[in-house]
Amino acid sequence: MTKKEILQTIQLRQSTLKDYLNCPMMFKFRHLDKLQPEYRHPAALHGSVIHKLLYMIHDDKWNLNVANYYGEIFERYEFGKEGESKIPVKWKDKAKELAAYESNANEMLDNYRKWEPNQQASILYAEQRFRVKIGGYVFTGTIDQVRRYPDDTTELLDFKSSKQRPNDLAMYNDWQLALYQYAIKHGEVLIEDNWIKPKLHPDYCSIYFLRTHEIRKRTTVNGKAGDEKGEPLIRTQKSPQDIRQFREQVLNLLKAMLKDWHFPNPNHCNLCNYKSHCLERAAELPKAFVAEARKRLKETQAA
Ligand code: SF4
Repeated sequence: MTKKEILQTIQLRQSTLKDYLNCPMMFKFRHLDKLQPEYRHPAALHGSVIHKLLYMIHDDKWNLNVANYYGEIFERYEFGKEGESKIPVKWKDKAKELAAYESNANEMLDNYRKWEPNQQASILYAEQRFRVKIGGYVFTGTIDQVRRYPDDTTELLDFKSSKQRPNDLAMYNDWQLALYQYAIKHGEVLIEDNWIKPKLHPDYCSIYFLRTHEIRKRTTVNGKAGDEKGEPLIRTQKSPQDIRQFREQVLNLLKAMLKDWHFPNPNHCNLCNYKSHCLERAAELPKAFVAEARKRLKETQAA
């Protein structure tokens, strides 16, 4: 594929950059060959439901009862238009797992609402679509939230509900956060069908790690049973110079993405849901290896 053909085929979204960085081969399967992933993980849908509930909480339903909405919204993402409904969700015991996810959402969002900074924040943008030009290329995506505190400081937030706490240094180098920050300063957001330019340089660009609102079941060196698991905000502050540097970096990344040289990154294989497609291309691999790999893949998927 030529550079022009690649550009005509892919969408320059934050998730596209993330996919390329995870594995260029997987990026090819998903964005160029347009292959469907083999499955969706329920945790990813749980994350989407949490985002939706957070939006509703700040919109006009601060006291919403999570149990009244969770199942219905989850179903919309699993089977309805809002999700990739044709791709199966990898359940082991759906009823049990869904109940655990709902209870987790309830716990995190209840404590989210009790946290004073969340009560005091004014929401400037929530689940806001953006577009921004970098070096002539238009990048698009959705910003989780931008808020203002009573002391007039502003913060751009990316909500995370995955189990693993993001590493502080890794998030300082996070492409997604940097793209959001660039967009809110140099790009446009879509508000009621109008593109407007916020021209905002937030004081903080942060991950809001929702799992810290879970309650500890046992006392450990990290804290007492009955307490929440920690501080939810992992903050970064970036200067205009950092933002300019990001611009150069993203254009260099794009140079690599627009070349037809899609190599595998084995560091991501455990989390990849394109494993079968990956094996398909392995014509040159020994047949016995491919057969054994397929057998193990089948066992994992059935487990
Ligand atoms: S299985 Fe591994 S190498 Fe293959 S596409 Fe997935 S992450 Fe890349």
